Amino acid sequence: MKPSTPHSLLRIATLALALLYATTATADPFAPQRADMVKEIAAVAASAGAQVGRDAIEPRVMTVMGQVPRHEFVPEQQKLYAYENRPLPIGYGQTISQPYIVALMTDLMMVKPGDAVLEIGTGSGYQAAVLAKLARAVYTIEIIEPLGRQACDRLKRLAYRQVACKVGDGYYGWDEHAPYDAIVVTAAASHVPPPLIRQLKPGGRMVIPVGAQFLTQYLLLVEKAADGSVSTRQILPVRFVPLVGKH
Ligand code: SAH
Repeated sequence: MKPSTPHSLLRIATLALALLYATTATADPFAPQRADMVKEIAAVAASAGAQVGRDAIEPRVMTVMGQVPRHEFVPEQQKLYAYENRPLPIGYGQTISQPYIVALMTDLMMVKPGDAVLEIGTGSGYQAAVLAKLARAVYTIEIIEPLGRQACDRLKRLAYRQVACKVGDGYYGWDEHAPYDAIVVTAAASHVPPPLIRQLKPGGRMVIPVGAQFLTQYLLLVEKAADGSVSTRQILPVRFVPLVGKH
């Protein structure tokens, strides 16, 4: 081997420095916090297992929870708390859901890569981003116009190209792209909206919190069988902002 000259040592040192700079410049400073959040979700899922009827969240869903940058979906002043397992305010009296609940709802939807899914209540766009990594297409509807527009811009900036958004009353679904393999409603309704049941494919699944605002709400799993019959299962008590609108 040729002995290193001071010149080649300098070149190696410069290269090493450049490499170090490149990796730190692109590394996500929130990655360790996100990894901790995923561990926390796994722990909560294990302890809620008996109640929920499944003791773990599917590995595919957990992988996605470890990838989507939740800090990009919360206001600047909430970024420090972005990876805590709790809901956070996103403005207009609304919240981004608790990470465990996002993981659980996604898990219950059993989304497959070719699926088209509908979300009611875009909010920050976080749940839509999680779904975008699992489905072929995500359609999401938000009733508060500035929130819906912000979330849409954010999803575009972060290159979640499979997501289509619109502003409107999600109670009536989005007929144009129906039927859906899965539907998720992220605001509590007083009843399961019939238009959403109609827009669900036979064999499809809907996850929806149902109940009054200050009373107990339950997360429901609504399944439409191949013959069109509908069955409902209560999963666990939850607290969501209300589904509003004129219905
Ligand atoms: N999925 C969101 C959570 C949003 S909270 C996220 O990941 O951040 C629920 C959202 O539902 C709120 O933004 C609220 O404005 C919206 N919402 C309430 N009623 C609605 C309706 N009828 N149609 C569409 N969105 C509605």
